[in-house]
Amino acid sequence: MGTMYAIQWHDVKNSQSCQVKQVEVADLLLQINAAMSTYLPDSELSRVNQTGAGVWVDLSPELAEVISVAQKIWQQSAGAFDVTVGPLVNLWGFGPDTGVIRPSLAQQQRAGEYVGMDKLEFNGSRLRKQHADLYIDLSALAKGYAVDRLAQLMSQRGCEQFMVDIGGEIRTKGINRHGKPWQIGVEVPDSNQLGTLQTVLALSDLSIATSGDYRNFRLVDGVRVDHVIDPRTRMPAASTVVSATVLHPSTMWADAYATVLMVLGVEEGLAFASEQGFPAYVMYRTSTPDDAQTFGFAARYNKQMAGYLPAEE
Ligand code: FAD
Repeated sequence: MGTMYAIQWHDVKNSQSCQVKQVEVADLLLQINAAMSTYLPDSELSRVNQTGAGVWVDLSPELAEVISVAQKIWQQSAGAFDVTVGPLVNLWGFGPDTGVIRPSLAQQQRAGEYVGMDKLEFNGSRLRKQHADLYIDLSALAKGYAVDRLAQLMSQRGCEQFMVDIGGEIRTKGINRHGKPWQIGVEVPDSNQLGTLQTVLALSDLSIATSGDYRNFRLVDGVRVDHVIDPRTRMPAASTVVSATVLHPSTMWADAYATVLMVLGVEEGLAFASEQGFPAYVMYRTSTPDDAQTFGFAARYNKQMAGYLPAEE
């Protein structure tokens, strides 16, 4: 999936309950990749994307589940989350297709014509595109889905204390080997300080996902262009949010919601988080993005998030 994964687990002293083989993990990840990657021309999703207009396509239960969640979050977010942004993601050079340095307005308008989940009929197990060029990109939630599936596999193999991480989307179960909730760091959202932690959250039986503009971005004429697209403007997201972290029982939902907050911005995003009842922590620019001298950020978290910050914070 263009990223790394890591699984940590431990057994309760003197017991050997957790029995999972690396080959099982790898097989599951390959299976999900073969269903949901836009980077593999012959994946199930790529075949859906290559299908012409008006043709019903049967989906595997896995792909149907992810598209169903994508549709629910599209509705909840009034279109801020939309997996049909694929053509724009590719146009700006953040997908499998090499993009152009600075797409013209005409190119942007053309790519934007096919964006919109309302141009997709989906009945829970089959879908039909209204336009041949409509293109689905599940990058905002499929990694989270894969984490959930790995966690399910771990539980089925008797594992009760573990942490699963795919590219920073994480699910925790039980406690760590020091007998405490898992300690998960949230990075300082600065490409010059990768790996430096802004804060640490204490989690047990919960997922955490972060979306940010500090790892995957480009400078176009000195202006930062983000890989998250605002489907409402058909442009790269222009909110001041540089990093959005979400806690949720499901990693797939946390993953998608973090992207929603990048689009909605601080006020609207935190209001959305409260409305949907999930803890969220956002960091945002306090100055214009091109003003390097005064570049800075400040953190804001909603009330529920406070419960996960270690006591000394
Ligand atoms: P997130 O914030 O979680 O997601 C952002 C991504 O979601 C964007 O990059 C865009 O694709 C999409 N998006 C943008 N705006 C919106 C919006 N408003 N609503 C919905 N979606 C939006 N990368 C490679 O380089 N090589 C690979 O082989 C490869 N294979 C992959 C296979 C799979 C199954 C998946 C899921 C991803 C793969 N990737 C690959 C993509 C890579 O991992 C992405 O960079 C990643 O998924 C984006 O995750 P993120 O955590 O950086 O950002």
